[in-house]
Amino acid sequence: MFKLPVCPYCRTVYRYNRVRKIELKEKTKGCYHCKKEFKIERFKGFFVLGAVVFVLAVATNLFLLNSLETLNLTPLLVFTVIYVILGLICIPFFINFKKSENKSRKK
Ligand SMILES: [Zn+2]
Repeated sequence: MFKLPVCPYCRTVYRYNRVRKIELKEKTKGCYHCKKEFKIERFKGFFVLGAVVFVLAVATNLFLLNSLETLNLTPLLVFTVIYVILGLICIPFFINFKKSENKSRKK
């Protein structure tokens, strides 16, 4: 994890923008280099990323709640939004490509 996905067949590295273009509903994809089909694995990476974002947001909010003298929700909201955006930016680093099992799939 924390690296851009590579094609499981020809080891072509997918650049950030290329990973970004893969739509969320796509489960398989043909490699742009060797044309073989692989599975797009998101769940594990998303879980880790979501957990990291959640823990950071909660920790920051607790810290802010303790250090603020008046209860002001704006900074809490701002930090939470920043973490969520950072998480979204990091998504391509948490995607994996796996070899597709059904080789004889017809189009
Ligand atoms: Zn390939």
